[in-house]
Amino acid sequence: MGAEALWPTQCAICDKRGLPLCDSCRGHLPYLDLWRACPRCGAPYGRHQCTECTNEKLKELGLTSLPFDSCVSALHYNRDSAHIVRSYKDKGDRRLAQFLAYMIACVIPPEWIVLDVKRQTSIITYIPTTSRAYLKRGFDHMAGIAQVVASLTGLPLYSLFTVSETLDQRTLSRSERFDNMRGSVQLRPEARCIMPIERVIVLDDVFTTGATLCAACTALRSCGGKRITCATCIRVY
Ligand SMILES: [Zn+2]
Ligand SMILES: [Zn+2]
Repeated sequence: MGAEALWPTQCAICDKRGLPLCDSCRGHLPYLDLWRACPRCGAPYGRHQCTECTNEKLKELGLTSLPFDSCVSALHYNRDSAHIVRSYKDKGDRRLAQFLAYMIACVIPPEWIVLDVKRQTSIITYIPTTSRAYLKRGFDHMAGIAQVVASLTGLPLYSLFTVSETLDQRTLSRSERFDNMRGSVQLRPEARCIMPIERVIVLDDVFTTGATLCAACTALRSCGGKRITCATCIRVY
């Protein structure tokens, strides 16, 4: 009896047999309309007047400006989109990594993808999992997604960060999350050898408050990173 008979492939959302994500569920995902999103922070409805990245809002979070130039996300947060990411993290189905990576690659603006021999090539990097989560799951979920995004875009992939253990973010308010994450994302010592980098695209699974990405991008900026952009699977709003 083959593995497929014992553990049949099922849709991550509706359990229908056949594909890791069936065509119907795929067609009904909450795709984010980039034409309506804020060009800076990526908030879904902030194209003309964003309430998420105003100076007052940033001040509340202890920031004077966003440490990245722009952010895009593929999906709104809802039960289904969250379920896909959770199924991938918990079950480790690589085919869901391919799907999530494809979603991200589709929303990365072409101008972020620069291949230039004069040391100006964009690079892909990602927010790695913490060592505790790695031990629990046995793999780094964002590394899997980033590998596929790198091959789809043709850009080189670098692992630039380490993330130290912090309090569980789910119980914290927005400003508490920023305090909790501040300094928790560090550049790996090897990363300093390739800095400054002209263009970096930082990937993460879910943009909740932006605390993790801001901590990572602040570390990149402090080492001379110039054009820093972010792309995530899901945006919470
Ligand atoms: Zn389905
Ligand atoms: Zn904004």
